[in-house]
Parts: sequence; C-alpha cells; structure tokens
Amino acid sequence: MRTINTIIIHCSATRRGLDFTANDIDQWHRQRGMDGIGYHYVIRIDGTIERGRDIEKVGAHCRGHNRESVSICYIGGLDSLGRPADTRTRAQRYAMRRLIEILQRQFPEIRLVIGHRDVSPDLNGNGRLEPSEWIKSCPCFDVAQWLSKTCHNNN
Ligand SMILES: [Zn+2]
Repeated sequence: MRTINTIIIHCSATRRGLDFTANDIDQWHRQRGMDGIGYHYVIRIDGTIERGRDIEKVGAHCRGHNRESVSICYIGGLDSLGRPADTRTRAQRYAMRRLIEILQRQFPEIRLVIGHRDVSPDLNGNGRLEPSEWIKSCPCFDVAQWLSKTCHNNN
C-alpha cells in the first residue's frame, strides 16, 4: 500500500443542480487522454459517495501532489452562470465530513486536508495565499475554515 498523508478536495466545476456521476467523470477524463477517472472518490449532489480510481493507485488530480494523496471530488463548484461558488448541498457537506473521518481512521498518516487551490504558489511571498494567486478556484470553498467549524448545525 502506498503512503497516504494528504486529502485533497476538488469540485467537478459543473453548474449548481446538475447531477453527474463517477462514471461521467471517468468518461470526461478518458476523453482528455487520461487513464480513466483521476479522483478516488466522488460525492454526488444527493450525498452519495462513489468510488473513482482505486485508492491503491496514484491519482491524477493535482500536479506534483498526487503520489501521497487521496482525492475527493464533489459534483458542483459553479453557480448557474458558471462562476465559482460553494454549491455543496447539505447532503454533500455531511458526506464529505464523514468520508474525511473514515479516511483519517483508515490512514493515520494523514496530516493535511486541503483544497486543490491551496497548493498554489505564494507568488508575492507574504506567507498567505490570496485569491489572485490561486491557480484555479477549485474546490470553490475554504477547506480549512469549513473543517474548523463544529459540525452539528450546518455542516
Ligand atoms: Zn481540482
């Protein structure tokens, strides 16, 4: 088994309310010449968690950070006009939190849970990542801030 020490969260960059599956993403990624779906887990709009790429296999989702990470992609990430937005439904937030907990239990080496945009380079070197520095906005929400909230109410 490979070492897994990081969870990286993604969005599918599809519009709010449109439902897609791990199979759809598998086809999109094949059309782009990849070896099938690059993500390990997909969280659909209704909160269903689907398996993507086998977790034993290195993913293809975050250049330079694939080897020791596992990836979760929720369906959504764009508003109805195609702008980046946290479109996660309540069910998706709940499923995401549960999946993170399950993975952390399964892989005690996991130290980091981050969003795709959090691996962007700190261009001006001020020690903080600012929106203008994100290589992309994926996953369209602040993972650290969300995780630091208690989960009993809004998820
Ligand atoms: Zn991403």
